[in-house]
Amino acid sequence: MKLYSTRRNSPVVSFREALFTGQAPDGGLYIPCELPTMTPESLAAFTDKPYKEMAHYILQQIVGDEFGSGGLQTVIDRAYSFAPAISTLSENLAVLELFHGPTLSFKDFGAQFMAKAMGYFLQNEDREITILVATSGDTGSAVAHAYHKVQGIRIVLLYPSGKVSLTQEMQFTSLGDNITALEVDGTFDDCQALVKAAFRDRELRQRARLSSANSINIGRLIPQSLYYFWGAAKLKAMHGVDPLICVPSGNFGNICAGMLANRMGAPAARFIAAVNANAAISEYVQTGEYKPRPSVRTLSNAMDVGRPSNWERIVDMFDNDYDKIVERMWSTSVSDKATVAAMKRIYNQFSYVADPHTCVGLEAVRRYRQNQAPQQPPALTLSTAHPGKFHEIVEKTLGITVELPQALQECLKRKKQAQSMANDFDQFKELLWELT
Ligand SMILES: *Cc1c(COP(=O)(O)O)cnc(C)c1O
Repeated sequence: MKLYSTRRNSPVVSFREALFTGQAPDGGLYIPCELPTMTPESLAAFTDKPYKEMAHYILQQIVGDEFGSGGLQTVIDRAYSFAPAISTLSENLAVLELFHGPTLSFKDFGAQFMAKAMGYFLQNEDREITILVATSGDTGSAVAHAYHKVQGIRIVLLYPSGKVSLTQEMQFTSLGDNITALEVDGTFDDCQALVKAAFRDRELRQRARLSSANSINIGRLIPQSLYYFWGAAKLKAMHGVDPLICVPSGNFGNICAGMLANRMGAPAARFIAAVNANAAISEYVQTGEYKPRPSVRTLSNAMDVGRPSNWERIVDMFDNDYDKIVERMWSTSVSDKATVAAMKRIYNQFSYVADPHTCVGLEAVRRYRQNQAPQQPPALTLSTAHPGKFHEIVEKTLGITVELPQALQECLKRKKQAQSMANDFDQFKELLWELT
């Protein structure tokens, strides 16, 4: 597989190289030069088979050339002990639940494949690499769990003290082994600045063999395209038409993976990008003007992104053409008030408990039908997190008790292992020096 940079100022690279570098040297994002296409018949054959079989069939055609014999199967087996599930709410509304992985959000699908693929490529090397991650919550837990005990890789995770939820914190501080958590006396932006400074430090970069694992890595997007094939093919088999696909979006990585899947033959009538009060993209769709700005805090906090970094990829995929983008994608901004109202409505109407991010999506589908086209095809809304992960707001809104999934309960019983650190680069450098 070959990939180019959106800025067109870096050499074309292999999947393996894009996986370890993350961002292209020219500051752009990697996009596949060519994509295989799956026929409707070949996809239909997988609707009754386990998720992993379909995943292998598709991945083999995208990146198979870069894995030795049996290698891709090994990576998939190590990554996926879980699968997506579909909940049917009504005749024309279904939810694709992507929260059955170890940290209860869809990010497990991308992080697990990326981690196990890196581990596979490094298996015959004797030097360890160090991956630096700044996190404000969900990314950190998915990445920490995915890389836990992967040979040849050390994870150093920086998070802002007192600014992540207890469950999130316990998910990435209680693992130990090759996962080091640094609790920084500062903000998320400070954590990101420390990581960037480390990458600029040549001495450190060489000694620690630094790498990254953030959401712009193509190694996360490609595995995230697989569940679109799986969910959309199932819905198409039920209804005979291409479904609407609604994606609760923040950094726009997930929906970008959906658009890649659609190019490769995954059925989709149109995409709905559901956003919260961080409305840069819904405004773009309505006005044609893109005005990124600082993020604001909402109940669906994993989508609090004012300047979505994957937007550059989507713009490139549609030749920077507004008409082509809006032909494939509609968008609406859902306030916290409307999110809470949707949570109640969905619970009353369908007895379904959805987390705040999923509610932003379900509200967007309701608006699309109301404003745009009441007779539209069945909709598949991606559910990006388990309601137990946001149980405080769900319990307060619905007046019910949400049982925490087993994985969460167990992690809350473990011991927090984090090192406190000032917002100070010299201290950070010293720490990394000792670790590596
Ligand atoms: C990360 C995240 C999102 C946003 O996904 P993007 O790929 O950044 O658009 C939505 N919901 C949850 C629960 C998340 O963790």
